[in-house]
Amino acid sequence: MPVTDPDCLFCKIVAGEIPSTIVDSDERTVAFMDINPGTRGHALVVPRNHSRDLLEIDPEDLAAVAVAGQRLAGRAKEALGADGVNLLNSCGEVAWQTVFHFHLHVIPRYADDTVRLPWIPTPGDLDEIQVAGEQLKEQA
Ligand code: 5GP
Ligand code: ZN
Repeated sequence: MPVTDPDCLFCKIVAGEIPSTIVDSDERTVAFMDINPGTRGHALVVPRNHSRDLLEIDPEDLAAVAVAGQRLAGRAKEALGADGVNLLNSCGEVAWQTVFHFHLHVIPRYADDTVRLPWIPTPGDLDEIQVAGEQLKEQA
């Protein structure tokens, strides 16, 4: 039996207590259509086990979600004619997470869609990039 949170929307979807359009499932994951699609075919992959976010999810569940995302990305190209796919995860409110059961967005992309990055890529300060990189490295 999966680990569930009785107050969690996506746990209820996994359990079939709230209706959804399920498009894929396996031992560890379920994928269903997002009700506010960014593009045609936008789906969410979730682990059956409840976990709040990227930092809490069991690594084996995370791996299974990634593989399911890859499966759906292939299907988006084959079945929907997508020209590309974005995989997106938001971890934390400031990163736009609104549902606190880990999920991977699988967003089919089309040559003529209007989805754009929320920032304009601009070259950064090379010294500061280096400093941030040093901080990110595992400390001995
Ligand atoms: P987040 O903002 O946390 O990255 O993504 C949550 C996603 O869940 C949103 O894209 C939102 O549209 C979707 N969502 C919220 N409530 C429901 C629901 O009841 N059913 C489905 N299928 N998707 C939902
Ligand atoms: Zn949950």
